[in-house]
Amino acid sequence: MHPATRRAIFRRLSTANPEPKTELEHSGPFELLVAVMLSAHTTDKSVNAATRKLFPLANTPAAILALGEEGVKPYLKTVGLYNSKSRNLIGLCRMLIELHGGQVPADRESLEALPGVGRKTANVVRNIIFGETEIAVDTHIFRVANRTGLASGKTPRAVEDALTGNTPDEFKLNAHHWLILHGRYVCTALRPACPKCIIRDLCEYPDKTQPKAAAEARRLQRDSPGGSTRKIPLRAALRTGKPKKAAEE
Ligand code: SF4
Repeated sequence: MHPATRRAIFRRLSTANPEPKTELEHSGPFELLVAVMLSAHTTDKSVNAATRKLFPLANTPAAILALGEEGVKPYLKTVGLYNSKSRNLIGLCRMLIELHGGQVPADRESLEALPGVGRKTANVVRNIIFGETEIAVDTHIFRVANRTGLASGKTPRAVEDALTGNTPDEFKLNAHHWLILHGRYVCTALRPACPKCIIRDLCEYPDKTQPKAAAEARRLQRDSPGGSTRKIPLRAALRTGKPKKAAEE
């Protein structure tokens, strides 16, 4: 992708949403760390449902440690893999108290040493809490980056490295949020909403979802007697928005 195209994509995403935020509800570094750790392989919605009950009762390492593994499980039942996440949460709280004075560390090595915390979680925490220009690559960002041509790679790490290397500096801090939100609500895994996508003219994905009229006209063309050999006036269908009428003409 040409650097000017990349810059234009981020400029549009930035104009549409100048101050993007995580959808994980949190107040302070510890709550964010816990929420991100819990969000692995599950939705932000289910994490928020769990932490809305847990955090009012316990939102410090000491308070959660006091609940114990069995004590936190009932709160985490909406979250996938809650058994192992409950165990990791208790281990994480214990380590924060024993090694970091109950505070969330800023450096990657210490974060990744915490139970249940991998590179993606560490990146999110470092980005949101400590203002580091990290780009955490989850399933949404992996898809958006590869489809658009912003960064191609076969693994999340390859995409992360490519995005880190080629995203213009002024967009790096928020790139993670823009791409994740774009993947979650527009460039979805199934049938991306290309016709209403604000970067469709810049995106290099060859299999964009077609506008409804065009898709319908193509379907009629395909399904009509004689199959694909019978040509339906696609332009007329697009102009009128009435592919059936166009097909009869
Ligand atoms: S045009 Fe389609 S494939 Fe490209 S970013 Fe937008 S929604 Fe995704």
